[in-house]
Amino acid sequence: MDIPALFGSMVFNDAVMQARLPKDIYKTLKKTISHGTHLDLDVANVVANAMKNWAVEKGATHFTHWFQPMTGITAEKHDSFISPAGDEKIIMEFSGKELIRGEPDASSFPSGGLRATFEARGYTVWDTTSYAFVKDGTLYIPTAFCSYSGEALDKKTPLLRSMEAIDKQALRILRLFGNTGANRVITTVGPEQEYFLIDADMYTTRPDLIYTGRTLFGMPPPKGQELEDHYFGSIKPRVSAFMKDLEEELWKLGVYAKTKHNEVAPAQHELAPIFTTTNIATDHNQLTMELLKSVANRHGLVCLLHEKPFAGVNGSGKHNNWSIGTDTGSNLLEPGDTPRDNAQFLLFLVAVIKAVDEYQDMLRVSVASAGNDHRLGANEAPPAIVSMFLGDELTEILEALESGADYRNKEKTQMQVGVTALPHFPKDSTDRNRTSPFAFTGNKFEFRMLGSAFSIAGPNIVLNTVVAEILREFADSLEKSKDFKKDLAQLIQKTFHEHKRIIFNGNNYAEEWVIEAKKRGLSNLQTTVDALPEYITKKNIDLFTKHNVFSESEIHSRYEILMEGYCKTINIEALAMLDMVKGDIIPACIRYQNELAKLLERKKACGDYDVSLEGRLLGSISKLSADLLKKLDALEEKLSGAKADSDILAHARYFRDNICTAMAELRAVADSLEALVGNTYWPLPSYGEILYSVF
Ligand code: ADP
Ligand code: MG
Repeated sequence: MDIPALFGSMVFNDAVMQARLPKDIYKTLKKTISHGTHLDLDVANVVANAMKNWAVEKGATHFTHWFQPMTGITAEKHDSFISPAGDEKIIMEFSGKELIRGEPDASSFPSGGLRATFEARGYTVWDTTSYAFVKDGTLYIPTAFCSYSGEALDKKTPLLRSMEAIDKQALRILRLFGNTGANRVITTVGPEQEYFLIDADMYTTRPDLIYTGRTLFGMPPPKGQELEDHYFGSIKPRVSAFMKDLEEELWKLGVYAKTKHNEVAPAQHELAPIFTTTNIATDHNQLTMELLKSVANRHGLVCLLHEKPFAGVNGSGKHNNWSIGTDTGSNLLEPGDTPRDNAQFLLFLVAVIKAVDEYQDMLRVSVASAGNDHRLGANEAPPAIVSMFLGDELTEILEALESGADYRNKEKTQMQVGVTALPHFPKDSTDRNRTSPFAFTGNKFEFRMLGSAFSIAGPNIVLNTVVAEILREFADSLEKSKDFKKDLAQLIQKTFHEHKRIIFNGNNYAEEWVIEAKKRGLSNLQTTVDALPEYITKKNIDLFTKHNVFSESEIHSRYEILMEGYCKTINIEALAMLDMVKGDIIPACIRYQNELAKLLERKKACGDYDVSLEGRLLGSISKLSADLLKKLDALEEKLSGAKADSDILAHARYFRDNICTAMAELRAVADSLEALVGNTYWPLPSYGEILYSVF
């Protein structure tokens, strides 16, 4: 396979644009892409026509404005290129107007109250910074989605705004260091994606997987992940064939799929791309999640992206590797070769430290969902407490700077910002801690709290904005400085001193850390319901509005949508449980008990046979069945007590405190029954059968 030729072959990328557009049009378009300048309709018409001709050659018959509503997944509506040409003939047409702007009906997407105050209609606008591509016979145009009054109804618009915010503030800092060459500062992301792969036959017999993406019942299998034999283990042929197919599809679409391996839990795997700009990484991650699912189907497999498909084995997350770089190619989180570069590195480093400390709550909000609650704060990696790992070496350097002490007494000189050269940090000295929610890994930070099903837009909007805010503060103060070197050193020392509580290089799973974190005053927002109210505090509203990332109403809309999403998710899970207990589990228990009772009777009728086995089993199952009924009634009663008209926070609390508890109790009884009822009677494939279904 000629991979270089395959790579990006379905993408209307720079090379295609250059080859297919007249020179002046290409130049104008490039300017629009890099500076966000307005694109004239005449130019758009030429681009649209070239795009259409290219797409038709690639087999496209339709086009779609592809956007990212606040559901977390993408949306698309396909229009064909056909246009009447008289004599009942048609031609294939695509205009600049159609390229630039679309008008999907916005009324059925979540808007979190924005619809009540603003017009229902919305429109999509071409995001020129992300390339169009052809998939399944359709030309996809990445777009942002807004209401008529300009309110963002999607995840892309605020993401682009947050990238602008950090660009603006970071450039101010670079100018202070005498950098006049860089014109833009861009954040980059490489998201590592975890997922489960199971046989499609198992999936179709589990209503819980179909309705909720996770199993709501199931006793632990005899073998889970305790032997640690799956992690990085050899990849089974069927999985390998799937992965190869997936990579090919991703490469065609210009996604830099790079690494694949087995993860910790049985049936769990990971895919990591090479990093790219945050906007494109986000689009590509959405495509990756979609293709994971569709390519799996072609192989008779189902890809589960839920954060916790199976109780008792590891859930799935997404590691958001994040850095900041210039358009001239330098990574601002890479320690440099000269003392001056290092002073700049240290300033960016303490900016991130301060940002994570001051906005721990907002970072926690950005990874909150009903699915992720099963990981964060539930004895699984990472914990709900946000802290940062810097590694011993970097921490020592910052401590030496803070106290003015020697650094490891290696040289008799004191650590001085802008004077002392920093050592290079070999990757393995910074990458040891796998338990940290936010780890420095040599030249980037790895934010590890994201759930596997997340759009990475949300967490990156927050990350970009909180760092932009601290860089703004720094720039405000340093631009006024009369003695830059001295004030810079002081700012680095002071910032580290005030925010070092967020740094923790130890084991984040240890119970002692929870106690220690509390002493340090770090927040520990256990569940989505605890975290989300932080979204609408004055501090956070000020943050987002100041940097024009969200308006106040846009924040409230997102808060509402997330809260509602939480309640709806749990409501669906509860209903699915009731359905399964009544429709599948109870009938199975009855059938099995009936067999046992019949046998008991027959044995007794035939004489004095030993019936201890049948007797005991029947007794245990009868007792558990009665218990099951009680728990079923309890869950139904709690569900009918859920009042959607109460305030949304109270409603969500009700779900967490009442419904989730009743669900857990119902599940416990059902799982005990699974252990007693014969396999051929039990209506659902077991955990063992599902987790080891692919071989
Ligand atoms: P690991 O996390 O297993 O140590 P790597 O460090 O090689 O693996 O990379 C993990 C991810 O980090 C990859 O997706 C990689 O492309 C990404 N990455 C590397 N450098 C950067 C950067 N400057 N900005 C964003 N992501 C990066
Ligand atoms: Mg990693």
